Amino acid sequence: MENQYILDNLSEVLNRIRKACECCGRSPQEVRLLMATKTISPEIIKIAIAAGQQLIGENKVQEIRDKYQQLKDVPHEKHFIGYLQTNKINDVLKYGVSCIQSVDRWELAQKLHQKLLQAGREMEVYVEVNTSGEESKHGVAPTQAVALVQQLSQLNTLKVSGLMTIGKLTEDATQLRACFVLLRELKEEINSLKLSNVQIKELSMGMSTDLEEAIAQGATIVRVGSAIFGKRKYN
Ligand SMILES: *Cc1c(COP(=O)(O)O)cnc(C)c1O
Repeated sequence: MENQYILDNLSEVLNRIRKACECCGRSPQEVRLLMATKTISPEIIKIAIAAGQQLIGENKVQEIRDKYQQLKDVPHEKHFIGYLQTNKINDVLKYGVSCIQSVDRWELAQKLHQKLLQAGREMEVYVEVNTSGEESKHGVAPTQAVALVQQLSQLNTLKVSGLMTIGKLTEDATQLRACFVLLRELKEEINSLKLSNVQIKELSMGMSTDLEEAIAQGATIVRVGSAIFGKRKYN
């Protein structure tokens, strides 16, 4: 039962992505689906992975830890997409996260760099930008984003390859679009600076309700949770 529900939802989301790409003349291969799996059990996540999805995103270090054993033998890629406290960096590195999409401050970047140096590793990171200006949202302010990326470029363990944002929660399509346009323009501005360790290839934007608009503005990763797994149940 649950299986079929997930599979149906998944194919509907993939159809939406395909249609959105068609609408703006992009190839569906330019847009990757990241399944936002917060609160979702490993059993359910495995159903979606078995259906061909490779990429998941988690928001909480605790959940990554809890699900690790059950998912470690299932081939998939894991990004961190939530607010990262500096004292949780070790766990993010330990449990197979390949990219942190939510780097939004210098202090976090520095501490991450120190840990990576100790481990002799590099890591792909995206910078999260608060394009909506909503106070409840994390992310660097758009006016500070370029300066932060310039700082990050000095930390040679960090490979800055993307920008991430959450669109404004609004019915107003113009305001929503402005968030995604802003992220795309920041990408162009940052890439024109040709900084070392920085090349923005990915725009991670668009979720269950607004992926079409994000794709129209250049999203290369859409992060979708509830449209695949249903409404989240928090305990
Ligand atoms: C939960 C979450 C998503 C997915 O949200 P849905 O509306 O369920 O698709 C995307 N990005 C982030 C950062 C999230 O926390």
